[in-house]
Amino acid sequence: MIVQEMKPILMNRRQFLGLSSATALVATCYPNITLGHALLSHPQQSSAEMLKSMQGLSQQKNLLLGYPINMTTPSEEFFAWRKELFAVGLNQFSFNNVGNPYAHSHIPFNGHLFERELINRFGAVYGFSQDNIWGFLSNSGTDSNMHGLYMGRTILKSQTGEMPKIYFTKEAHYSIQILRDLLNLEWVVVGTNHDGSMDTDDLERQMNANPNHPALVVATIGTTFKGAVDSIEGIRAKLTGRTSYLHLDAALFGGYLPHTQFAAELLHEVPDEGTGRKVNRYDSIAVSCHKFFGFPAPAGLFITTRANFETFLTQFGHIHDPEYILQIPGTITCSRDAVKPAEFYFFSSESAFSKQVADAKSMLDNTTYLFKEVVAHYDYLQPMRANRQSNTIYFRKPSDTVVNRYSLAAMGVEIDKERVPYVHVVVMPHASKEILDRFLTDLGKKEG
Ligand SMILES: *Cc1c(COP(=O)(O)O)cnc(C)c1O
Repeated sequence: MIVQEMKPILMNRRQFLGLSSATALVATCYPNITLGHALLSHPQQSSAEMLKSMQGLSQQKNLLLGYPINMTTPSEEFFAWRKELFAVGLNQFSFNNVGNPYAHSHIPFNGHLFERELINRFGAVYGFSQDNIWGFLSNSGTDSNMHGLYMGRTILKSQTGEMPKIYFTKEAHYSIQILRDLLNLEWVVVGTNHDGSMDTDDLERQMNANPNHPALVVATIGTTFKGAVDSIEGIRAKLTGRTSYLHLDAALFGGYLPHTQFAAELLHEVPDEGTGRKVNRYDSIAVSCHKFFGFPAPAGLFITTRANFETFLTQFGHIHDPEYILQIPGTITCSRDAVKPAEFYFFSSESAFSKQVADAKSMLDNTTYLFKEVVAHYDYLQPMRANRQSNTIYFRKPSDTVVNRYSLAAMGVEIDKERVPYVHVVVMPHASKEILDRFLTDLGKKEG
């Protein structure tokens, strides 16, 4: 392009008024391009074509086995709830959950009531005491992790004057690596046990090697690929006497474990064995809403204690001037979705929790079934299941046809110092026995 042509040309007022205002503006800036021209010079797809390309997706959705997304369409009641929300204006005109859902907002167009209520309800599920709870509905598991790590960094820095170092394993979700970079934290890589969970003896060794920095520890409750569970008790034992913050990334398992025999895994408060006084097992927790719960769009739960929040807020108040919205919001993101918390509130009722109990049971039963069948018929694939809490099994990568048909994620897994291609199947509520049988049959076919 010739630079000369891009220069604005000077027009007198009469010439300018001879053009419609939009074309005049474009023509003033780029004399050789008119608006219609600019649009037509790119290949266009009509909305009908775009919609057509998405047709049929709802028939295929239950074949998704490679990622932790619940593809079940929510019940009729959920869509009726959406209509009720619509009737009061949500999704019609602009609502915004900017600010702290637990504080008064002087802008009434928000859904803070729903947000606060659902955090309190889920907080109860995770064993937070109702007078010591704070949280909000974030954009995703990653967003919730971001708030946990930022809160941890801020609190630890304020307590010690030193930036913490962050401790997590290579099995942690890649979002943690991105957030580590974003927050400019030094990563101390912690080794893993055979099943992919954190080696807490190595955690202790690493913390001893870094005595001058507080420890921001991320425990993964359900690692993304292997479904391993870092031991909260094991980690806590190593943290005694150190300045630390423990964040739980429970993006997937956090949704269902509270509804199973493993409910104690995520309890926030437990009585101390010696004194009987309540102790906190962790500082904050992140859970994705679109994974186990089957909320139809990405969102995340972020829950911490009020005590942590208040320590954080004192520091946050130094960097954020509250004048404009008349409060210190406590969240990194300013404008926040008001529709999703009001919609996700639906998943926090008694009947929704009973459904989650049933889903959690059938999911784990189906995982046991799938694992048993793969072991029985395809043992050469060397199937693994990290633990009985896990809805994930992983095994050597089968044919590309199977990988593509079921959207399986493939990754190199280190076996005897060599990286071998593996896939995993995450048994979500839509992965019925019927779907799994179909998958098992396909696994046995000779396909390229
Ligand atoms: C999926 C996942 C995340 C990221 O959650 P999003 O909601 O997709 O942002 C983080 N950690 C773990 C362990 C996950 O499985």
